[in-house]
Amino acid sequence: MLTWLLIFLVTIGTAAYLRLPQAIWSGALGIVLFLFSFSGITGLATLVIIWALFLAIVVPLNLPHIRQTYISEPLLNFMRNAMPSISKTEQEALDAGKTWWEVDLFSGKPDYSKIRDLPVSKLSAEEQAFLDGPVEELCGMLDDWQINQVDYDLPKPVWKFLKKNKFFAMIIPKSYGGLEFSALGHSSVVMKIAGRSISAAVTVMVPNSLGPGELLMHYGTEKQKDFYLPRLSIGDEIPCFALTGPENGSDAGAMPDTGVVCRDTFDGEENVLGIRLNWDKRYITLGPVATVLGLAFKLYDPDHLIGEENDIGITLALIKTDVEGIDIGKRHFAANHMFMNGPNRGKDVFIPMDWVIGGQEYVGQGWMMLMNCLSQGRGVSLPALSTGAGKYIARYTGAYSRIRKQFKIPIGYFEGVEEALAVIAGNSYIMNAARELTLTGLDTGEVPSVISGIVKYQMTERMRTVVNHAMDIHGGHGICLGPKNFIGRSYQGVPVSITVEGANILTRTMIVFGQGVLRSHPYLLKEVEAVNHPDRDTSISLFDDALFGHVGFIISNFFRSLWLGLSGAYFVSAPGKGKVRRYYQQLTRMSSCFALLSDACVLILQGSLKRKEKISGRLADALSNMYLITAVLKHYEDQGYKQDDLPLLEWACEDSFYKVQEAMKSVMRNFPIPIIGKILNIVIFPLTKPYGGASDKLGHKIARLLLDPSSTRDRLTRGIYLTEETDDPMGRLEYALKAVLDAEDAERKLRDAIRIGLITSQDYNTAVADAISQSIIDQSEADKILTAHEATLNAISVDEFSPKGWKPQ
Ligand SMILES: Cc1cc2nc3c(=O)[nH]c(=O)nc-3n(C[C@H](O)[C@H](O)[C@H](O)COP(=O)(O)OP(=O)(O)OC[C@H]3O[C@@H](n4cnc5c(N)ncnc54)[C@H](O)[C@@H]3O)c2cc1C
Repeated sequence: MLTWLLIFLVTIGTAAYLRLPQAIWSGALGIVLFLFSFSGITGLATLVIIWALFLAIVVPLNLPHIRQTYISEPLLNFMRNAMPSISKTEQEALDAGKTWWEVDLFSGKPDYSKIRDLPVSKLSAEEQAFLDGPVEELCGMLDDWQINQVDYDLPKPVWKFLKKNKFFAMIIPKSYGGLEFSALGHSSVVMKIAGRSISAAVTVMVPNSLGPGELLMHYGTEKQKDFYLPRLSIGDEIPCFALTGPENGSDAGAMPDTGVVCRDTFDGEENVLGIRLNWDKRYITLGPVATVLGLAFKLYDPDHLIGEENDIGITLALIKTDVEGIDIGKRHFAANHMFMNGPNRGKDVFIPMDWVIGGQEYVGQGWMMLMNCLSQGRGVSLPALSTGAGKYIARYTGAYSRIRKQFKIPIGYFEGVEEALAVIAGNSYIMNAARELTLTGLDTGEVPSVISGIVKYQMTERMRTVVNHAMDIHGGHGICLGPKNFIGRSYQGVPVSITVEGANILTRTMIVFGQGVLRSHPYLLKEVEAVNHPDRDTSISLFDDALFGHVGFIISNFFRSLWLGLSGAYFVSAPGKGKVRRYYQQLTRMSSCFALLSDACVLILQGSLKRKEKISGRLADALSNMYLITAVLKHYEDQGYKQDDLPLLEWACEDSFYKVQEAMKSVMRNFPIPIIGKILNIVIFPLTKPYGGASDKLGHKIARLLLDPSSTRDRLTRGIYLTEETDDPMGRLEYALKAVLDAEDAERKLRDAIRIGLITSQDYNTAVADAISQSIIDQSEADKILTAHEATLNAISVDEFSPKGWKPQ
């Protein structure tokens, strides 16, 4: 009997695992039951009961008419009563942006060819020339201390240089005088500048991100594009975009700012149709110097001048900042970074209707416009800034750890420091891979709104981790601010990135999984749409398809999770070679488990999942880390399986799988119905926890990669500004590292001589002179030792100021 039970289970399991159509697995079960009937194990009465049960389940399932009438329709009626109807704003959010790789991660069976077949990310010759030319020159001009502590602004020549070289026009088409860079080109520029000066990077970022330029390109009228885009390209207009106000931060749509449709005199012309605006905005980047203000407000038409409706909805307009009634120019100081940021207000400001972005046709569509454009910028700017910070920090904290000695040993050799260095190296690798994959997605025409949320929150959080660890390693060298310090101000600036373009707590706990599950789940949105469909017959038929597809999907993921867990996913087909293939196999396993867990959460929590942010935040973590794993695998493959980089890939995957596992474990541990959490845990992790995180040995390997120059270190930090200028905060470290390594052999000879007592002088210069006189080293070796010593002293030095001010002494 047990054998037959097993045969039944294996048949159901295999059919579910392979996601066979309903009719086929019904037939397969019928055949097993037929054979069982002749086994003689049970009596006739039991057989009749089993067959009756089988037919009662299988017949309605395979006859759509019966299924729809007796199962789907009553359930649909129930859902229609239970589910609130979708509001216009919710529908716009659902329709905004496209879906992408997250669909595969939600499917439980990712099709890796979609990612692996994407082109290898590569800059165009023009973009490379821009990076090697104007960007390189700009980086050399930037003195972050001068900007933030002395001038409180970018120097005039830098502003001029930015405008002249069209830094503000990277996304504007060439036909309008812009540079028309790819997302990769745009990101590479921001990344390179970010390590030199966050204030400069933010200044460049904003006009190229969500703002007037992008909104105009997507929705502007021809007249608006023809007027503004060429002027924005050469910096004749400086744009800003004002959405946030004192009362609407994360809940951006809740703005109290209003526009009322009316007629008034404008520019000497009477009876002009337009809008009277009142607003109060704050935190607006570039606001204090903007000449054109993109404004979001709620539009009303009480006199029905443009239609039947009074409450028209969120509308976006472009407003010249010199119009009467506008108060603009004051500043905020954002975490000690002196990019232009400030409040602005408008009192009874009248603008003509054709200042609405897209013209009258687009009134009330502001939210949709913002949602569609936000994902683009969110996937580029802050991920670029975070990756840039990661690369600079990896390179120069590695160098510092190598040249800074305590207890006569480079601090990077101590296990405690090594642990922190490993986190810096691993996260920098992950950030770069995620940046490249997302940009490739954007450049191939996808606007993945969930993915852009993932990279925004994951990469700014990882930047925070990297900067925090680097601060610990640099110690006082990172804390004492001054022209020599390249890291302290990055530390201060982290909260800016965490907060803007969707504050991270909100993005993690509300957006990523909440939006992801609705948009990317194979059946959920179809069910919602079916329930809301106005035609009843179509609604039943659509709902029936979605519902039974969904049930099959859950059963499939149940068996897939269990089998992949029991078998360690060793037999699942996956692309790639060696370790890469193994990681793909494990990703397939985690994707199945994630799909099952997501469905369990949605089914049990339903609408209340929206409020259960601790659950959805952890699911967002699991989804995000699976995306990051995909990114590092693609990156490693695209770079041609470089053996030297394998430890970085391994660290990234081991760390991320561990995070996926822990996030899912936490969801199950805190599941609202504990017994279901326990059952899910048995199905998903049947043989205890498979992932233990990156080992110390791996950490040791990748930390060491930062301590010495190598092609792996160069690949990891590719795209940043390099200099060996000894009066540059980073150049002095680059120079000192080279000098120290160059002097290593000679230093060893000197050290040995000191150890065995051949040299006794405590003074460094005298000891070197003694070593020459005793022929322990020659003059050229002595020069190397002294150069390294001097370079190290310069690289570890910190600034000193007069007691009265900030001028270096
Ligand atoms: C330097 C800087 C530059 C900026 N530039 C611009 C600009 O150019 N244009 C513009 O329009 N705006 C800009 N902003 C505004 C920025 O977008 C907002 O700061 C951001 O949306 C958060 O709003 P808030 O600061 O009011 O925080 P709040 O909305 O008050 O949020 C406080 C905290 O609560 C969390 N939270 C809120 N709601 C939820 C929820 N439902 N679930 C979970 N957590 C939640 C948030 O994640 C955050 O951690 C800028 C801000 C800064 C600091």
